[in-house]
This record gives sequence, structure tokens and C-alpha cells, in this order.
Amino acid sequence: MSITRRGFLAALAAPPASLTDTVLVHEHVLVDFTSGKAPYDEAEVFAIARPHLDAVKKLGVRRFLDCSPNFIGRNPKLLARLADATGLEIWTNTGLYAARNHQFLPDYAKTETAAQLARRWTMEYRQGVDGVKPRFLKIGVNDGPLGALDKKIVEAAALCSRETGLAIQSHTGNGIAAWEQVEIVTRAKVSASKFVWVHAYREKNHEFHEKVARAGGWVQFDGVDAKSMAWHLECVRFLQGKGLLGRTMISQDAGYYKPGQPRGGAFRPYTLLLTDLVPKLDPAWVEVLLKKNPVEAYGA
Ligand SMILES: [Zn+2]
Repeated sequence: MSITRRGFLAALAAPPASLTDTVLVHEHVLVDFTSGKAPYDEAEVFAIARPHLDAVKKLGVRRFLDCSPNFIGRNPKLLARLADATGLEIWTNTGLYAARNHQFLPDYAKTETAAQLARRWTMEYRQGVDGVKPRFLKIGVNDGPLGALDKKIVEAAALCSRETGLAIQSHTGNGIAAWEQVEIVTRAKVSASKFVWVHAYREKNHEFHEKVARAGGWVQFDGVDAKSMAWHLECVRFLQGKGLLGRTMISQDAGYYKPGQPRGGAFRPYTLLLTDLVPKLDPAWVEVLLKKNPVEAYGA
């Protein structure tokens, strides 16, 4: 029996990674940095975003976590319409965003206690927002060491997570802030596995990545674009080398329609991660990064 050269080479090559049932854990349809000061045409956002969502659905993506928080363009009704039209599961969130020096916080966030804020978010989870149930918490903090207001937002998220079981995606600038949040969350008797360090790629010191992952937190390298792809690969390989791939997620922070700009400005497609990064990864890693971990972190 002779083995053809072609057959031999095919046997050597790793099977192509399957993208069926993958999850994009950090993307945006719409981000409104004007906080409602620039009204937008929902039909236009729908028409612009839809083909980009169709494109990832076609590649096998099952679920898309929309990470735009309340007061920065969260629009559950629009997301529900896009989900219906595309067949994608699109998840929205509850919580408040304290990053960018608190400019997107409503006044009540400054005066209410962590427990009061947590109650508001738990209520949104139980009753839904415009008919849509938030499926995760999305907060944001400034760089560490964290100030009192930032700490309060994190504590509120922990209290809400304890009540609802929701995971906490926290927009985080640096490793110091990430570690402080792990401490706040665990002090509130919430497992570190409920904490997701959003934008972990912005921290250049791998020691923080390892420390948070070892403590049981999720380390999310979610800024994949053409320029940052090599660094994202390096981050993933680092944690894999430490035996911590099971604490690692990847996404793109792509999109999104920006009110106040003509036709929402430049829209970054959601496909690059799937078409350009995935082929550079071992298929077994893709299973963990884009399927197993997102379900373990955020729920089935
Ligand atoms: Zn984002």
C-alpha cells in the first residue's frame, strides 16, 4: 500500500478549526460617546450593523455579547431586532461605566450605596430592560490604584453577581486595577471566576495576567485588530504556557456605529478574529478560547 505525498501532507496538517458555535465575548453594535446628545436613526444603525452580524453568523458564531453599557448606547430593543433578523444570540448587559473619569455615570451613582446600585441592576436582570433580560454585568473602572467611586461600582457588581449569578465584565486599564477588583469581588464572597478582566491586552506585564488567572479570574484579550494581533497571540501563548488557557478569552471590541458622526463613522467588521487570528491557533485552543471558556464564564 502506498501513501501518496498529498495524503501524507494532509495527515500532518492540523484539521481546520471549527467555528461552529463560537462566541464573541466583547463587541459593540453601537457606542454613544455623546450619551444621547446626538440623536441617531435606529433604522440606519440596523441597516449598517446587520451585514456585519450576518457575516459572523455565516462563519459559525452562535452568540455575540454586546458590551455597550447603559448611558453609552445600550439599546436592548435594537439588539433584539438584530438578533431576530440575523439568527444570532445577542446579549445585553446591566451595570454602570465609571471609566473615563466617571463622565458616563448618572448622578445617582455618586450618592447611592453599593447595595442600592446592586438592587437596581438585579431589578433589571429580573424584570428585563425593554423586554430583554441582561445576561451579564458590564462595568468600567479607571486605572488603579482605584478611587472610592470606582471601588463602589465594583462592589455593587459583586453584590449583584452574588444575587443573580451574572458574570462581571469590567473595562479595566491596567493590571493593578484588575488585581484590586479580584480582591473586592472575593471579599464580597463572590468567586473570582465571576470576574472578567476586560482589555487585559492593555497591560504589558504578563505577571498580572498570570496572577489574575491563577486566582481564578478570567483574562480577556479582547482588542484584536490588524495591528495588535501579534501581541494578542503572544498573550494567549503566554497563559497557555503557564497552563492557564482555561482562564483566557479573546475578542475584538469591534464595530460600531457612533452617533454624531456621518453614517456612524467607520465600522470595524467582526470577522478579523475568525478569518485571520483563528488560523494561527491550534484548533484545540480555539475550542477552549471561543467555545468552552465563554460558556463557562457567562453561562450556556
Ligand atoms: Zn468595548
